[in-house]
Amino acid sequence: MGRKQARPAPGKSPPRQMARPAARPKAKGPQPWSPAEVEEAFRRFKAVRPEPKGELEYVNPYTLLVAVVLSAQATDAGVNKATRGLFAAADTPEKMLALGEPRVRDMIKTIGLYRNKAKNVIALSERLITEHGGEVPRTREALEALPGVGRKTANVVLNIAFGEHTIAVDTHLFRVGNRTGLAPGKTPLEVELELLRVVPGHYMRHAHHWLILHGRYVCKARLPDCPTCVINDLCRWPEKRI
Ligand code: SF4
Repeated sequence: MGRKQARPAPGKSPPRQMARPAARPKAKGPQPWSPAEVEEAFRRFKAVRPEPKGELEYVNPYTLLVAVVLSAQATDAGVNKATRGLFAAADTPEKMLALGEPRVRDMIKTIGLYRNKAKNVIALSERLITEHGGEVPRTREALEALPGVGRKTANVVLNIAFGEHTIAVDTHLFRVGNRTGLAPGKTPLEVELELLRVVPGHYMRHAHHWLILHGRYVCKARLPDCPTCVINDLCRWPEKRI
């Protein structure tokens, strides 16, 4: 059976629209995208993948959090391979603590930086129990205060587990934002803030997934697949192939 995707709990408040950053001062470079072009790009992304999904496997918000922590500098496929056994043995912070750090370390040893990650998984599980009643907190501040959790991880959890309108900028989004000219920025945070400013609210729920999948499978780092790209005519990259 396929694993269930966690959804916001019924009866919980609807997703909050994050405050939109102010427009950036104009810089030299390619013409910025017009609102109509951005709308059209996301209309096409939606037409290709109406319900985009991430590729990390998880069974609840806690296992999603652990999976994202483990995914730093690792592939989703590699993480999934290790977490299938791990989550079958421990899908709550209490069970993870009972498993203990040496066992966790052993179960994730195929993932890069596994020693440090095992430490963080145990430490964050302890903090969830002592400070959050064993639940994954729903605010950025509380998430970022957990061991091994940074802004990107918090954004992924807020978006996927709780339906918040956040965008986690990883290597794929950073490349796509800059290469296309949709959301240029020198740092992941600059790209994130620019995406939050330009992406229409009605596309924000899935914007992160559409862009990550576009970067992973079409607008690839080495040889982007420009001839099949659905936003080829909108893309500002001077080296794109028509
Ligand atoms: S046209 Fe090429 S460079 Fe531009 S978004 Fe598409 S794949 Fe990426």
